[in-house]
Amino acid sequence: MRSRWLNHRQRLKRGVALILIWALATMPVVTQTAAPPPLSEVVRKSYLEIPELSRTAGYPASEIEAYGKALEQEAEGEKKRLEAEKKRDEDVVKGLRRSLDQLNKRASRDGESEVAERRRLHCEILKIENHIRESEVARKQGVPIALENKRAKLTLLQKWPSELRKIEQEIAAGRARARRYGDVEDIGIRVIAAGQEKDVKLGQDAINELKAYGLMPPEWQDPALSGYVRQLADQVAVNSDLKIPLKVTVLESEEVNAFALPGGYLFINTGLIARTETESELVGVMAHELAHITARHSAKLMKRATIAGIIYQAAQVAAMILTGGIVGVGTYYALQYGFLGLGLVLDLALLGVSREYEDEADQLGVQYAWKAGYDPRGFITLFDKLAMEKGYVTTSSFFRTHPPFAERILSSFRELAWLPEGGNLQVDSLRYQEVKRQMMKLIEESKRSGGKRPTLKRFPDCEDEAKKPIAIDGAGESRADKRSE
Ligand SMILES: [Zn+2]
Repeated sequence: MRSRWLNHRQRLKRGVALILIWALATMPVVTQTAAPPPLSEVVRKSYLEIPELSRTAGYPASEIEAYGKALEQEAEGEKKRLEAEKKRDEDVVKGLRRSLDQLNKRASRDGESEVAERRRLHCEILKIENHIRESEVARKQGVPIALENKRAKLTLLQKWPSELRKIEQEIAAGRARARRYGDVEDIGIRVIAAGQEKDVKLGQDAINELKAYGLMPPEWQDPALSGYVRQLADQVAVNSDLKIPLKVTVLESEEVNAFALPGGYLFINTGLIARTETESELVGVMAHELAHITARHSAKLMKRATIAGIIYQAAQVAAMILTGGIVGVGTYYALQYGFLGLGLVLDLALLGVSREYEDEADQLGVQYAWKAGYDPRGFITLFDKLAMEKGYVTTSSFFRTHPPFAERILSSFRELAWLPEGGNLQVDSLRYQEVKRQMMKLIEESKRSGGKRPTLKRFPDCEDEAKKPIAIDGAGESRADKRSE
């Protein structure tokens, strides 16, 4: 009995083993024959998945090109749809204004029902006008950004295998350090741009002027977050080519952005922190901004301009596009609670933003994040997430100050390939997650209690969305843009 049972068990074992061998033998075949995902799926994938796909999937160039064209048409269609929607909205507003006229003709004074009717009409008009401004941002900025982001993925898919081969050949031939800023082992010792200390006054003047016009959002008060952000930025700074002290400020603003002023001033908005998901994403932005400071981009771009003139102009633009005419409490409201923020009004030269310098800041940013021990791809994943976001309005100023270009993504991947391998690059940390959770909690509480929201007398007490008086007219192109070209 016993031996027969054993035999049975052995047979069973053998059977299981055979099944396992069969499964193992067929597995690679299964993965090899799995069809590559359609391009419509590829453009929705993270940038981090595309290098691998480009090596294995082998899409014909003609297919990629045709899909790129289809994407363009799709974007055109979306723009037309938004244009038509705007016309409809404008007609509705006209109708509402006619009702307002009729109300005014009805009597010399309002009775109870007229008061209610007037308020309803005011709120309705404000709500639709706000929607018109938002869809303008989507049409002029959001749709082109989303298109460019998808195109960048197609470019990476198409070009990466040959790009990587070239880099590997150069490295094998001992020429890794021959590229621009190839001396990564000398970070901190090498000189990227001499005279960083000359920019300190420039930055300080800019901050003073911004404060004088009420353009600077308030500083975030909770020391836990500010301390953490400062520490993290310092860690990146000591692994960069910065030769002057770094001054980090966390700004309480819903604007999804971060910016650097010349002379070592780094500003990070709570709105940006809220949108990052890992520590390396936050580090990526910090490293990129630090690179603008170390390379003295703003000093190079604004040779003849005076800071006072530049900030005066920012105040004018803010008055126009943020509040519809008044600088003061409205600007404060727009900068702190609105979605647009400083990034939309600041002179791009002051921030050191130009096509050429973005590329340089990307390369140095990748190096600094890497040297600080972080995965430099954090900046790319954050960029991707913001570009894919629906609605676009909250991120419009990020893309004004961090213009998306396919070439930039490709260069970032190139720089990563050049860098020496080895070491564990950090992606996230518990401390980051804890501090961020606490920040989100405080923001939530402040919102629930009404916070320090200033009230705008010009606007009736409608529901929240109608209350946002932030005009986005001409957001795609402000005076500041034209000036810095
Ligand atoms: Zn930049």
